[in-house]
Amino acid sequence: MTPHFADLTTIRVGGAIAAFSEPTSRVGFIEAVEDADSAGLPLCVIGGGSNILASDDDFKGVVVRDGRRDINVLDQAAPREGDDLSVHVNAVAGANWDDFVDFSVRMGLQGVEGLSGVPGTVGASVVQNIGAYGQEVGSSVDSVEVWDRAEKKTSTLSAEQMRFGYRTSALKSSMYSAPGVPADTFFPTPRYVVLSVTFVLQHRAQGEVRFAQLAHALDIEVGQSMAVQLIRQAVLKVRADKAMLEDPSRYSNEWMAGTKQGIASTAVSSSADYDRWSCGSFFVNPIVAQTIADTLPQDAPRFAATAADGTAAVKTSAAWLIDHAGFHKGYPLANKPNSAAALSTKHTLALTNRGQARACDVVSLAHTLQNGVDSAFGITLVPEPVFVGMER
Ligand SMILES: Cc1cc2nc3c(=O)[nH]c(=O)nc-3n(C[C@H](O)[C@H](O)[C@H](O)COP(=O)(O)OP(=O)(O)OC[C@H]3O[C@@H](n4cnc5c(N)ncnc54)[C@H](O)[C@@H]3O)c2cc1C
Repeated sequence: MTPHFADLTTIRVGGAIAAFSEPTSRVGFIEAVEDADSAGLPLCVIGGGSNILASDDDFKGVVVRDGRRDINVLDQAAPREGDDLSVHVNAVAGANWDDFVDFSVRMGLQGVEGLSGVPGTVGASVVQNIGAYGQEVGSSVDSVEVWDRAEKKTSTLSAEQMRFGYRTSALKSSMYSAPGVPADTFFPTPRYVVLSVTFVLQHRAQGEVRFAQLAHALDIEVGQSMAVQLIRQAVLKVRADKAMLEDPSRYSNEWMAGTKQGIASTAVSSSADYDRWSCGSFFVNPIVAQTIADTLPQDAPRFAATAADGTAAVKTSAAWLIDHAGFHKGYPLANKPNSAAALSTKHTLALTNRGQARACDVVSLAHTLQNGVDSAFGITLVPEPVFVGMER
């Protein structure tokens, strides 16, 4: 028996999978990837399925999930030198991301607490350089051990070689030929399959709060410091209020059981919370040229950013554009009440499955929003999730 993508993804849509394997050793994981590649079969390495939107059609290929969960502190016994508080921690690709954050915070390590509650795995965290509440994972990465599907060998990529950027990395770039345009080879999984990540964290009790909403929740000013454990709790609370945590009930599904340890920390709700049946933010915040930014209404958010070609640009807010194009929280597919897909009632940027949605419903809603924003502001929204088995 094999699962459907609907069993493995947070938005709970997607068709049957022809072959599924979950190796529990490093060599087994590499072999599963290499076997699919050498047989010329479509391959999708999946983690927590929190950034994947899969087609309703059957997937006639192989889905591989890393069945390992180990997290190890590498410098535990090493003497501390001078003022250097760095501690290296290695986590395998299959470790649940929030389990890793929880582990680090409990060990008194600072660096990833702002990323508490982001669904998914350690392996995928470096693919799109996850970010939230003023932190990005790339800032805490020392190196990434990968299986190179082109060269058919393992290698270790330094943080510099990872070329981390806003929701991107060398790994993500390896599967797209342009933003949102899948490349002919490798897609929907990067050329480099992550085997493990070595993080460099700081042995310090406090972290700086750099995000206004989080500072407000902690009743402090932006730039002030706070205990790392309290920052984690505040982030989980703010995320829960916006339904930007995954629905923990998914771990009672036989295909997800055992993939995450700290389920309680994500606050189990008694009934299905459809606002959480999403891929998180569905569109990346557009980075546009100054000339385009100048055409936006005065109150549109604008942040200094760098374009893909390295030139100065402006980042605006996808949520603001959607809302000001007339699609407010809870907006349902085709503007019909009780539709199968709708915007989250708590977050304009999350497209949600209201229980019975199919992938085509979610795509249809996405197209409505893209067309609306394009007509209103001349900006094309690019989806953040990886589309498996269908065009965007
Ligand atoms: C409620 C919710 C909130 C979210 N909030 C945030 C947020 O605040 N910030 C943010 O940045 N993201 C957020 N996301 C998106 C998502 O959590 C991240 O992108 C996460 O890193 C995806 O991890 P995953 O293991 O679920 O990846 P998957 O969805 O399983 O896979 C995503 C991509 O990564 C590839 N991949 C998976 N494992 C590996 C591997 N070992 N090696 C190479 N490639 C691999 C897959 O092939 C695919 O291309 C949110 C999602 C949800 C549902």
